[in-house]
Amino acid sequence: MRILVSNDDGYRAEGLQRLVDALQPLAQVTVVAPDRNRSGASNSLTLDVPLRVAEYGPRRHFVNGTPTDCVHLAISGLFEGEIDHDMVVSGINDGANLGDDVLYSGTVAAAVEGRFLGLPAIAISLVVRDGRHFETAARVASEMLLRLQRAPLHSSMILNVNVPDLPYERLRGLKSTRLGHRHRSAPVVRASDPRGRPVYWVGPAGEGADAGAGTDFHAVANGYVSVTPLQVDLTRHAAIDDIGEWLGGRNE
Ligand code: MN
Repeated sequence: MRILVSNDDGYRAEGLQRLVDALQPLAQVTVVAPDRNRSGASNSLTLDVPLRVAEYGPRRHFVNGTPTDCVHLAISGLFEGEIDHDMVVSGINDGANLGDDVLYSGTVAAAVEGRFLGLPAIAISLVVRDGRHFETAARVASEMLLRLQRAPLHSSMILNVNVPDLPYERLRGLKSTRLGHRHRSAPVVRASDPRGRPVYWVGPAGEGADAGAGTDFHAVANGYVSVTPLQVDLTRHAAIDDIGEWLGGRNE
């Protein structure tokens, strides 16, 4: 099995190293990851400057681009048909990707890009920023890979995996979940630069609002690994007829 590994925290991030260490004994691992932290990059592509690729080891590459650039490049041209990847694994992210986070996440975006290009993909995150148990998430990733080798998933499948920051022995199990929903994020933080001009930082995400049983928030809060199957279709199917009527009832 040939696995493409990427992330959004950059190629030097601890989570990526731990993921590679865990997957290496099970598969041939190629890394194509951003040259710096691109958390929050979502699905953006770099279209205004050329992408440059540098090698930092055999089958290890970093790129001056986003996670989506990395996966796009890796699957559609960088290796010129030399390596055909079987799947994409993105992470281990330093911080949760729960509920609405998936829309902003570069970690999830790398997985989504893999899926767009025809490969099954897993995004894996440790739910506490600066968490201590990357080892736990790495072990979960290798177990998921073994499971996939036994029982492959459809190539359109994206799994969003969030692992509690606990020692492996204290995990209570794995749960298949739906995305929850966060409260509104905190306001932007205003500060000033050395010349007294205002600067702003985007504030932290809100706490879980829709975080009841069945959600990803609920699973991780109770010590379970949350595994959410994702799809890319954002259409609100149930509203198509209503909007047709709202437009004047001429929705043929
Ligand atoms: Mn990140």
